[in-house]
Amino acid sequence: MKLRLEVLSPVTISCSYTSINEIYTVDYIPATVLRGVLASVYIKEKGISDPMEDNLFKEIFLSGKCIFGNLYYNEASLLPLSALSCKYNSGFIPDAHGVKDMVIPRLKNDMKCLESCSCCNAPMDNFRGFYKRERGCFTKVEVPKRLIARTAINPMRETAAHGELFSMEAINEGSFFTGRLYVDNGLKDKVSEFLNSREVRIGTARSRGQGHCKVWVHDEASTDNLIERFDRFNSLVGDKHTYFSITLLSDMIVFDRYLRYCSNLTLDTLLEYLSVDSTISNNFKLDFWISGTRKISGWNSAPNVSLPKEDVVAIEKGSVFVFKSNNPLPEAVKVRIISELKRIPEFIGERVTEGFGQVSICNKFHLEFYKEMKE
Ligand SMILES: [Zn+2]
Repeated sequence: MKLRLEVLSPVTISCSYTSINEIYTVDYIPATVLRGVLASVYIKEKGISDPMEDNLFKEIFLSGKCIFGNLYYNEASLLPLSALSCKYNSGFIPDAHGVKDMVIPRLKNDMKCLESCSCCNAPMDNFRGFYKRERGCFTKVEVPKRLIARTAINPMRETAAHGELFSMEAINEGSFFTGRLYVDNGLKDKVSEFLNSREVRIGTARSRGQGHCKVWVHDEASTDNLIERFDRFNSLVGDKHTYFSITLLSDMIVFDRYLRYCSNLTLDTLLEYLSVDSTISNNFKLDFWISGTRKISGWNSAPNVSLPKEDVVAIEKGSVFVFKSNNPLPEAVKVRIISELKRIPEFIGERVTEGFGQVSICNKFHLEFYKEMKE
């Protein structure tokens, strides 16, 4: 299913607890924020004292049968960390000097084409954010935001507190965000009934009128063509080995065997979803990766808790991991690999019900932008 959210009053979702007089917002709606608010609305609306006694609450928010994905602006997709563009005129052609992706060139050992801009020979730089394809053209998507200046209120005199001016960045009203909502078939009607046309308040400054949003859900036909992407990925690399890539569409939390946070996605994590004796576990290894880490803070608004959540270290959304076969594989084995890749769920790792760990196998960005570069 698809989740759609309309911003009715400015939204600020701060990404840290730091107390400063400039508060910045993230430029997407993290699933964990929306899910937390919806859970709290559910509890208040039904007036339940112990959510663990309510079967529908447990099914929607705790069972893993309902997974909320991050919501990104206006149907835009996340640019992977492998995207590069001109340092001085970055962006897609024809508006700017073009975008290159480094995954396929790295596998072909053809990094020379990434050293400089094809238009002006300037150095290439990281290209972060969101993009969208409209009428055959790619464009970079900027989330509309503004700064709102406010003063703190002196609680005794109920007037502006002296010397306590602060400014807050906010996502503008009128913006739309969309994301994935994975729901088990048996639960779809109940989830739609609870969520449709639901008005909620998210983020900070809710008591000052900010964060008013409206949510809808609707069914979305799945159009996944993994076989085609896998074949194209391998034919573009054009090597006798077999490859597949995993790109993170949301931050991912993974522990190693000593319960430390991982900064990489390894084959061991994928094996949790495949059998130990699978074709992938016997034949593949992590070949290279482009990744980052990010500290995730949060606030637990469960009844009677109201405490900050423990900070966690996540692998940053946009990170790319490429796996390579140890030896050239016959065609019959490739069919088995695809069927095993199909068994990997859309969300993997820890805290998946909050939208962490959304993955895309052989993401089309790596294919499209290699083709664009060559043309
Ligand atoms: Zn350039």
